[in-house]
Amino acid sequence: MRTKRRIAGSEVIATGAELLQGRTLNRHGYTLGALLVGAGIPLLRETVVPDDIEQIREAVAAALKRVELVFVTGGLGPTEDDVTREAVALATGRAVVSHAEADAHLQAYFARINREPTAAQCQQARVLAGAEVFMNPVGIAPGQCLTLEGGRSLWLLPGPPRELNGLIETALAPWLSEQVERADMHQRVFRILGHSESRVQERLRTETEIPAEVAVAYCARPGSVELRFHGPEAAVDLLTEWVRERYAEDLLNETGEAVEAVVGRLLLERGETLATAESCTAGGIAERVTDVPGSSGYFVGGVVAYANGVKVRELGVDAAVLEREGAVSEAVAQQMAAGVRARLKTTWGLSITGVAGPGGGTPEKPVGLFYVGLANAERACATRFQVNGDRQQIRDHGIQRALEVLWHSIR
Ligand code: ATP
Ligand code: MG
Repeated sequence: MRTKRRIAGSEVIATGAELLQGRTLNRHGYTLGALLVGAGIPLLRETVVPDDIEQIREAVAAALKRVELVFVTGGLGPTEDDVTREAVALATGRAVVSHAEADAHLQAYFARINREPTAAQCQQARVLAGAEVFMNPVGIAPGQCLTLEGGRSLWLLPGPPRELNGLIETALAPWLSEQVERADMHQRVFRILGHSESRVQERLRTETEIPAEVAVAYCARPGSVELRFHGPEAAVDLLTEWVRERYAEDLLNETGEAVEAVVGRLLLERGETLATAESCTAGGIAERVTDVPGSSGYFVGGVVAYANGVKVRELGVDAAVLEREGAVSEAVAQQMAAGVRARLKTTWGLSITGVAGPGGGTPEKPVGLFYVGLANAERACATRFQVNGDRQQIRDHGIQRALEVLWHSIR
């Protein structure tokens, strides 16, 4: 059994011209960063290079001078622009060789789809001499880990996110837990609703003493802040106590989990159900609620009540009230929530009505104004919000705030 070792730093090199040309959003640093922070290994840099052998070689050589663990992603496929193997061979002085198991894996892959691999496709089974090779659970090109002098490790991973994720699960995550000694570096992420990042920072700075070895990060989200501590467990625990006391009312969770997931779990635990009535977000709340696997256990359905006629006919909103108060009003939000609850026979009815813009605003009902309604068997209420932003941002705010209103009531 090999002894575990500490790794002080790692880097990712993502290859692919498409990542530099606005054609593909680079996700690999994001994915690997989350994995590495969980393993207590700092990811110090991500470099994005086009599919160019010399640029990849240079990036790999430079990264290997700086850190002990380097990941190179993409460019392991069959086409001419897939040059990562060759570039890494140049950077490390290793040869590219065939590999019996990878070759058998490739042959079996094509046999399953009843096709013959081309000569170019066969190249995908080739690996760097001496690499530890991990079969790709969903594709052809294997993952490879080279051990270099000075205990440095260099991983080659395929570019398609599905394949990268597959190999993370079957090869890289197990490798990290076997080989790498977990540093005393722990992370906690808090989602605090209804507070701004600057206010949270101010309080944290004045009311606590932040140890030098703890990194604090703030991330503003619509209507909430994500506060993250990263450092030795004992120090992080002390700060955690402070957050729990200070923000008891508004602390959504300590995992960074989205509000719809938290709400879903609460509803499921209580055997309660939810229906939505949406005007300005036109189904956006329902979509977020049903992003959560298992949401059929509590989400019944929703009504997109965009036109006033639909609010009246389908949700039972009083036409006179609508006329008097306007569609974007507290009374209409309440009636929409109560109406959809009655109509779909749920524990909770959640509604929204607002002015998403860019047109349609008036001095009394400006763009960015919306009401979130919530009803249960006892009562219906509505909360007024006024936010800034373009149409998309206002709708996103609306969805988020609506879910938060629900959370505040059922927590
Ligand atoms: P293939 O066998 O599919 O060619 P590959 O290992 O050669 O795999 P690439 O050719 O670099 O990988 O990319 C394959 C696919 O994966 C492309 O659709 C590419 O846009 C996507 N991809 C590659 N790198 C990234 C990345 N960093 N983030 C998101 N998608 C990526
Ligand atoms: Mg490719």
